[in-house]
Amino acid sequence: MNERKNNNKKNYLIFAVICMVLLLLFNSFVVPAVKKAQIKETNYSFFLSQLDSGNVTKVEIKEDSIVFEAVNSNGRKKAYSTVRVEDPDLVKRLYENGNVDFTGKIETQNPIASFIVSWVLPLVFMIVLWNILMRGMGKRMGNSMAFGKSNAKIYVKAQTGKTFGDVAGQDEAKEALVEIVDFLHNPQKYADIGADLPKGALLVGPPGTGKTLLAQAVAGEANVPFFSISGSEFVEMFVGMGAAKVRDLFKQANEKAPCIVFIDEIDTIGKKRDGQNGGNDEREQTLNQLLTEMDGFDGKKGVVILAATNRPESLDPALLRPGRFDRRIPAELPDLAGREAVLKVHAKKIKTDPDIDYNAIARATAGASGAELANIINEAALRAVRNGRQTVSQSDLEESVEVVIAGYQRKNAVISQQEKELIAYHEIGHALVAAKQKDSAPVHKITIIPRTSGALGYTMQVDEVEKFLLTKEEALSRIAVLTGGRSAEELIFNSCTTGASNDIEKATKLARAMVTRYGMSSSFDMIALEAVNNQYLGGDTSLICSPETAARIDAEVNGIVRDAHERARQILSENIGKLHELAHYLLEKETITGEEFMSILNAEN
Ligand code: ADP
Ligand code: ZN
Repeated sequence: MNERKNNNKKNYLIFAVICMVLLLLFNSFVVPAVKKAQIKETNYSFFLSQLDSGNVTKVEIKEDSIVFEAVNSNGRKKAYSTVRVEDPDLVKRLYENGNVDFTGKIETQNPIASFIVSWVLPLVFMIVLWNILMRGMGKRMGNSMAFGKSNAKIYVKAQTGKTFGDVAGQDEAKEALVEIVDFLHNPQKYADIGADLPKGALLVGPPGTGKTLLAQAVAGEANVPFFSISGSEFVEMFVGMGAAKVRDLFKQANEKAPCIVFIDEIDTIGKKRDGQNGGNDEREQTLNQLLTEMDGFDGKKGVVILAATNRPESLDPALLRPGRFDRRIPAELPDLAGREAVLKVHAKKIKTDPDIDYNAIARATAGASGAELANIINEAALRAVRNGRQTVSQSDLEESVEVVIAGYQRKNAVISQQEKELIAYHEIGHALVAAKQKDSAPVHKITIIPRTSGALGYTMQVDEVEKFLLTKEEALSRIAVLTGGRSAEELIFNSCTTGASNDIEKATKLARAMVTRYGMSSSFDMIALEAVNNQYLGGDTSLICSPETAARIDAEVNGIVRDAHERARQILSENIGKLHELAHYLLEKETITGEEFMSILNAEN
């Protein structure tokens, strides 16, 4: 910023000098030339002859020239000038020639007017011209005019207004960040003892777990400015621009210290420099600049860099070494207590009925991120408004959980009775298999109202307590539940439909993971056959084994699913009476709760 001011000063100085030179030239060449053009040069004898013939009306005697006005043949006055010749009789002559108005005064113009005309006006003209030129150039050349500089004013957001109170759960992350807050409050305390606080911390976790929120809360708690930029903003068209942006950002941050600099999605610039893909000069330069800046700035001043990423494994090791982003702060998906806390924090912003069971909602949303939970609360509030109510009820929340999981209800979707029946049997098939196995989570809700996500119905299972581990038995019974829908179709209609595609996908994925990652198959021991690539982004995997082994894996996976399918069919045919009864009940009600389901299932008849 300082440099920019200095640059501006320099520019103005140069501009002023140019103006002065131009003005001098103007006054010594242009003005006299213009004046000369109006006054005709003539010789002294012409002057004398005009004087004698009485045509001259006015004479000005200057030091080395005589300017005079004479009436020419057609009665018009014209100005002439002639070189002044030593002529002692001149005055006498002029005097005798009674009607000549003669003077020795040199200036003919008003001095102020002449000053304005020859100095001020040209100056104004030049300034206007300069401005127009600069503006035009700036527009046309856009950013590339500012090469080596960046338009970086956007970063700073003075105060975030967020505190740790706004972040629910994430206790480990908050604990790790409290020290940074203290450091920002009182850098001197740390400087006195000679301690170097971490310059940077890396917030790692899946999307929507509150990494940005945590960074804002640190700034809010410490009451310092918050600079925020996304990694992708550094990636520019021209090599060197990103690096310039980094420089600029750090310069601004240094001026505003103590402060927080938050770089979101740092993996876009911080990827490993592997030299593959032909290299990416721009990105590497930007990364190098970032590394340099992090080393260069004074850690005691109180600039703390927080960065967020959901693919930490792809970061360049240089970024992670001590003195850079050496602290790694996890922001994981919230557990049951965490989800309940997030729901409560966001529910504070809306009006709710007095006795809302947040725990129930939290149990139904295993695997949801903080952002999704915030969205559930908002959806519930929207639903309450749609239904013309003043407060949000439990049913609003429950419905909005389903909206977030499966999309909105498609109330006007026309589904034939025959298809509806099939869907009902399919869903009850899932539910029955779940209920009849001891390792399955209890059924919470069954519905055959279609959703905008494409689901024609679904069975919701909710664990009583949060599970962190999955046993082999649980995994197998989960696969059996997934095959339960198709099993019911086969058993009752003796056919199969496309409705099971999602079940098949999930069952395969789980069975595959059992074989390749969890060591739960009969033919392989504890061998990793697949590597997870993006832990936080869907967790896609890639095989790390020979083609022969891959073929054996496929056979093994197929075996697991087949066994589960067989078991599901068996459970359903043993309970075929209940299957019919429940399916017809669901067909009639469209949505039934877990309790209704269990009471019909357990009723003796
Ligand atoms: P990330 O940066 O990890 O992708 P954000 O910080 O942008 O996620 O979170 C998005 C939104 O989700 C936040 O603005 C907030 O409303 C909500 N949110 C996420 N995690 C939490 C949490 N732990 N507590 C409260 N709200 C949260
Ligand atoms: Zn299904």
